[in-house]
Parts: sequence; structure tokens; C-alpha cells
Amino acid sequence: MTQADLRTRLEEARASGLHHIARAQDLASLEEAQVRALGRKAALSRARSDLRQVPPEDRKELGRLANEVHAELEAAIAAKRATFQAAFMEKRWERERIDVTLPGDAPPVASIHPLTKTISAFVDIFVGLGYKVAEGPEIELSRYIFDALNMPPAHPARSPEQTFFVGGRGVDVCLRTETSPVQVRTMESQQPPVYVVVPGRCYRRDTADATHVAGFAQIEGLAVDEGITMGDLKGTLELFARSFFGDELDIRLRPHFFPFTEPSAELDVQCFVCKGSGCRLCKHEGWIELLGCGMVDPALLEWVGYDTERYTGFAFGMGVERLAALSHRISDIRLLWGNDLRFLTQFRGSG
Ligand SMILES: [Zn+2]
Repeated sequence: MTQADLRTRLEEARASGLHHIARAQDLASLEEAQVRALGRKAALSRARSDLRQVPPEDRKELGRLANEVHAELEAAIAAKRATFQAAFMEKRWERERIDVTLPGDAPPVASIHPLTKTISAFVDIFVGLGYKVAEGPEIELSRYIFDALNMPPAHPARSPEQTFFVGGRGVDVCLRTETSPVQVRTMESQQPPVYVVVPGRCYRRDTADATHVAGFAQIEGLAVDEGITMGDLKGTLELFARSFFGDELDIRLRPHFFPFTEPSAELDVQCFVCKGSGCRLCKHEGWIELLGCGMVDPALLEWVGYDTERYTGFAFGMGVERLAALSHRISDIRLLWGNDLRFLTQFRGSG
């Protein structure tokens, strides 16, 4: 073994190592090239172990050359590995890249039903005036629905044709046809002053059409106190109508009849679309019928044990569907009970 032989072998190990490293196409083939260039059986390793056989005076220089070749091959492998890793990361980055400028997929978010919104808007106005919210049973005694409200036994509302009786004909329990029994129960349970609004579900044997459904929502109001007059009724309802439909609108009261109020009236509000000049919504009348109202019949106050010499009151009530239909220009209230998201999501966010 001569110095020249060993030098040649080291140079060949360098050239062949660099050649294999350069040819590696990926990390796996680079691993193979590394084994071939630097492994225990590689030409370089074998040449290094043969260094022992050269004379000591030459060993130092050849040893330096061997170290140099080893370092060069290691550096070439490291550089090649770095380019593969960079390319791998580049590909991965490309694959996993998120374009933050793309519009996101909005997850479906629930929203409040337009009827519930309408009730809330109504209640907010009256709570602002100091009213409380009262609630009562949907399955009610005839005594609270009909007797207390001055409806004689022959009144058509007491017929099973109009009312859902629970347990069959002649049973004195039915699904409430209006929220008025809650007014009666509220008065029964406390002395005046009474200021309540009563939202709730009611039921009538109506065939569903554009303005009727058999299960619907109603909202009523009741005020009983000393010195309550028709002027208070008008002022309160004017404030409600203007808060709900528009500041500048007029209201009017038309005489009407209800069994539990005397005098009774219907309240119209000036059409909020045409401001009274006539349009499709108000059927060219300039006015929109809004609700029924009146001064509480003293017979009802007596029925609950109030002193009618001292107390008077007013009451009003309306269908929530009608109110919602008016404020959202819905022409068929069956849509409100249809549970169709295509319809309901149109009102997301609106008041
Ligand atoms: Zn109009």
C-alpha cells in the first residue's frame, strides 16, 4: 500500500460519493447515497482504515485528505437534504395553503321567529310604560273564558263548532280562544292598580286561510286603576301605534261591540305605506284596522270583586300574526306557521 495508491482511492471515494449524492432524486435515494459514501463499507471508510498501513510520515497528510473528503461528502449530503426538505415543505405549504381572502362558509345560525320578535317589540313598548307581562294556562275553564267575559250559554263562541273542547261536548274545559282569561285571573289574584300585557297561544276551530290559522298568537293589554278614562286608552294606543309603525301616524277609534267592554271600539292606524292617501296595503282606504279595545265592562270588574265605584279600566287585544304580517308585509299568515326556513330566514336580523 503506497501513499499514491491511497491518495487515488480517497480521490475516487470523493468523486464517486459526490456523483451518487448528486444523482439522488429524493430523501430515500439520498439515504442510500449516504450509506454508499460514508457507510462502514464505503470506499472512504475502507481507505481510512488502511491509513494505518502507510508510513507514519505520510499518514498525517493523507489523514487530513481523508477528513477533508469526509467533510465534503457530509456537507454535500446536508445541502442536498436541505433542498429536498425545502421542496417538501413547499409542496406541503401549497397543499395546505389557506386563502384568507376567500369568503368563509358561514355556519347556520338560529334566529328568532318573526312572531316572537313581534311579541317582543310589543311587550317592550308596554314594559316601557310600566306594564308587566302576565301568562296563564292554554287549557282553560269555560268559567274564565266565557262566563267571566259576559258570554251567555248560547253565545256562538261556546259552540264546539268554534271552540276545541277538551274531553268532549258538555265538558267545561277547552283550549282558550283568546288570552282574555289571563286578564280575569290576574284581576282575581290582585287588587288594582293592574297594568299587564298578555301574550300567548290561542285556538279556534278555524279553517286555515290567508288570515286564519287554528292555533294562533294573541296579545292583550289591561289597565285598571282609579280614574282611568277613554282618554287614557286612546293616548296609550296612540303611543303604541306610533312606536310600532311610525311617529307621524294618526289613529282613529270606531265604535264596535265586544261582550266584555263598554264602550267598545276598533282602533285604526293611518296606513304607514301611503300615509293615508290610499294604496294596496290599506285597500285604498288610508287606514289599517289594528285592534279591538274598550273600557272594561263594570260587570267584569264586579265579577273579580273590584270596587266599581272606585276603579275603571281599559283593555285591548289583537292577533300577533296580523301585526307581524302588517309590519313585514306578509300576505298569508300561514307562512308564519309553516316552519319553512326559506321563508323564516328572510327575517333574520330584522326587527
Ligand atoms: Zn295605504
